[in-house]
Amino acid sequence: MRAMRRATDPRRPYVTGERLRLLAVHAHPDDESSKGAATTARYAAEGVDVLVATCTGGERGDVLNPSYPPVPDPDRMHEIRREEMAAAAKALGVQQEWLGFVDSGLPEGDPLPPLPEGCFALQPLEVAARPLVELVRRFRPHVITTYDPTGGYPHPDHIMCHRVSAEAFAAAGDPERYRDAGEPWTPLKLYYNHGFSMARIRAAHEALVERGLESPFGEWVESRAAREIPEREVTTRIECAEFFAARDDALRAHATQIDPDGFFFAMPRDLEREVWPFEEYELAESRVPVRLPEDDLFAGLRSADPTSAR
Ligand SMILES: [Zn+2]
Repeated sequence: MRAMRRATDPRRPYVTGERLRLLAVHAHPDDESSKGAATTARYAAEGVDVLVATCTGGERGDVLNPSYPPVPDPDRMHEIRREEMAAAAKALGVQQEWLGFVDSGLPEGDPLPPLPEGCFALQPLEVAARPLVELVRRFRPHVITTYDPTGGYPHPDHIMCHRVSAEAFAAAGDPERYRDAGEPWTPLKLYYNHGFSMARIRAAHEALVERGLESPFGEWVESRAAREIPEREVTTRIECAEFFAARDDALRAHATQIDPDGFFFAMPRDLEREVWPFEEYELAESRVPVRLPEDDLFAGLRSADPTSAR
């Protein structure tokens, strides 16, 4: 994916002459396609090294696509999801690695059942974070993206994904921590993905209603407002409509999980490009000076950038 890099491009992917690297940490295979996918596709196309780290194998995911044929052998699920993940990574033009943990499943019921033994969310933090610390020290990302402390939605693996990412961001550069996990490396910025901010849902809902189309977002607007879920800050918007097609291909690659006629495809694509041509992030931590709002995850890190620390 180096073809699009041009020496004259002021946004060239370098930090002090080095190729930029982005690490996107996700809980399950398919999360990389539903959160920030077009952003990763865009950066990969621009010549940034983009790596998706997937904490778990998604083994406990049910088949969520009603048009998918029944999986006769539940043990096949692990394999199927690996194949789906490979196809999604290819669609986005990114690299991908597994961190090797077992999906915790989404506990349901009242009272909630206990989490299954040995699953990702039950690991002590240092055990859960170690493979990611090793990966950060090997891949040496300048920027890491993950979920906010609530997980974005309350799946135990998403919350754990946040915790291991924050831990790796804090500890990977510290030679005293995780001593046998590789040469220390200090990532510079940590972001949280915003999947569906209230502003995005509202904009989509209004655009659909205005055109006399059916909106699946109306109830969501009301229930979110009723539950008074505090909105997280959006600091960074990445223009990436050009890569929505790649995102859609990646979503469809997760055929067991994503219904091609379902929620993720509810918005007509021409309308989406018009109303919401970006993906949103919250800058959680930065080790370089920044000016908010931003339109680039690498703002402040590019050698030709006037906001650069150097
Ligand atoms: Zn997930």
